[in-house]
Amino acid sequence: MDRSARIAVIGAGLGGMTVAGFLQRAGFDVRIYEQAPAFSRIGAGIILSPNVTKVLRRLDVEQGIIDTGIKPRSYISRTWDTGEIIYKIEFDAASEARFGGPYLSIHRGDLHAQLERGIAAGSIDFNHRLVATEETLDRIRLTFDNGRKVDADIVIGADGINSKVREHLLGAEPPRFIGSVAQRAIFPAAALGEFNIPDCTKWWGRDRHILAYFMTSKRDEVYVIGVVPCSSWDHDAPLLPSSRAELIENFASFHPDLLRVLEAANEVTVWPIFDRERNDRWSEGRIVLLGDACHPMRPYMAAGGAMAIEDGAILSRCLAEFDEPAQAFRCYEATRVDRVGDVQRISIENSWMRGPCTDIDWFYRYDACVAPLTLPT
Ligand SMILES: Cc1cc2nc3c(=O)[nH]c(=O)nc-3n(C[C@H](O)[C@H](O)[C@H](O)COP(=O)(O)OP(=O)(O)OC[C@H]3O[C@@H](n4cnc5c(N)ncnc54)[C@H](O)[C@@H]3O)c2cc1C
Repeated sequence: MDRSARIAVIGAGLGGMTVAGFLQRAGFDVRIYEQAPAFSRIGAGIILSPNVTKVLRRLDVEQGIIDTGIKPRSYISRTWDTGEIIYKIEFDAASEARFGGPYLSIHRGDLHAQLERGIAAGSIDFNHRLVATEETLDRIRLTFDNGRKVDADIVIGADGINSKVREHLLGAEPPRFIGSVAQRAIFPAAALGEFNIPDCTKWWGRDRHILAYFMTSKRDEVYVIGVVPCSSWDHDAPLLPSSRAELIENFASFHPDLLRVLEAANEVTVWPIFDRERNDRWSEGRIVLLGDACHPMRPYMAAGGAMAIEDGAILSRCLAEFDEPAQAFRCYEATRVDRVGDVQRISIENSWMRGPCTDIDWFYRYDACVAPLTLPT
C-alpha cells in the first residue's frame, strides 16, 4: 500500500495498539480513535503466552512487560476436590527457547502503559467514540460523538466486542451471553499471610473453574478469576459489584487450598461473558476488523487478547506487502481464519491445558511476525 494512505484505527485496545505500532514502523500514517477519555488501571489481569510476547518484542515492549509483570515459574491445573495436579508446565530458559518467548502474567493497566510506548507519541485521539461510517468510492468518512468528522483511506475496526465498525460490515447484532459470569478480584499478596501459592493455578470443577495468579514479579499482587454458570444477564453495566462471600459460596465445595486464597479476596466484581458465533467475513472495501470486533471468544484459553495481537501483526504485514487493500485483506483473512477458528473451538470446549495430552507447541511457537502469509488465489 501507498505509505501516504490515511489509516484510522478505531479502538486503542490490545489489537488496535499493536496494529498501529507495526504500521507506524512500516512508514504508514496512522491515527487511533478511542472512546475513553484516558487509559485507566481497570481491575483485571491477563496472561500473555509466548506467541504474544515475541510479537510485542518487535514493538520494543517485551522488556517493559517482563519488568512490570511476572514470568511465572509454572502453570498448574488441579482438580477441584482432591487437588490432584492434572497438568503442569514449567516455564524456564528451556521453555523460552522452545517457544521463542516467555509466558507472562500482568495487570491489564500495566500492559496498556507498556503498549503505549510501542506507538508514536500523540497518535491517539481520546474522547472519540465512533458513531457513524460513510463509505464513498475513494474514502471513508468517520463521525465521532464529539461532532468531529475525519476522512480515512483505510479503517481498521479494533473496537472490541460491541464494535461499531463491525455493524457497518455485518449489521447490528448484539453479542451472545454465554450463560456464565466471571467473578474477579485483585488483592495484595500480604493478605495471604504465611500461605504460599504457586505462580499460576487453574482449578477445574464440573461446571465452573477458577484461576489464581500473581501479576507482578515481586509476587505482591494476586488476581483471581472464577467462572460460574448464570442463567441470564439483564444489566447494561459491563460489571457489577460482588463480594468475597458470594465468591466463596460459588466455590465452597472446592479444595481448601483454593478457599484459603479466596478468603484473602476483597473488592470482588462480576462480569458477564459474551461471545459471537464464528464468522469468517472480516473485511469489505476499505474496512477491516481485528480482535474481538470480528471474533470475540470465551476466555477459557486465555487467548482472545493473543489473537487480537497476532491479528495486528499479520494485518500490518499484509498492508505493507500488497498494493490494494482488497488483496491485503484477502491475504490477512486467509492467513488468520483457520488459526483463530481453532482457538475459538478450543475456547468453547474449555479443554486447554486440562489434561496431560494437550498439544501446546502449535499455539505457543507460532510467530505472527515471520509466519508465512497465505497468498490470496
Ligand atoms: C474474563 C476475561 C478474561 C480474559 N483473559 C484473557 C487472557 O488472560 N489472555 C488473553 O489473551 N485474553 C484474555 N481475554 C480476552 C481479551 O480480553 C480480549 O480478547 C481482548 O481484550 C480483545 O482485544 P481487542 O483489542 O480486540 O478489543 P478491546 O481490548 O476490547 O479494545 C477495544 C477498544 O475499543 C474501544 N472502543 C469500543 N467502541 C468504540 C467506538 N465506537 N469508538 C472508539 N473506540 C471504541 C474500547 O474503549 C477499547 O479501548 C479475557 C477476556 C475476558 C472476558
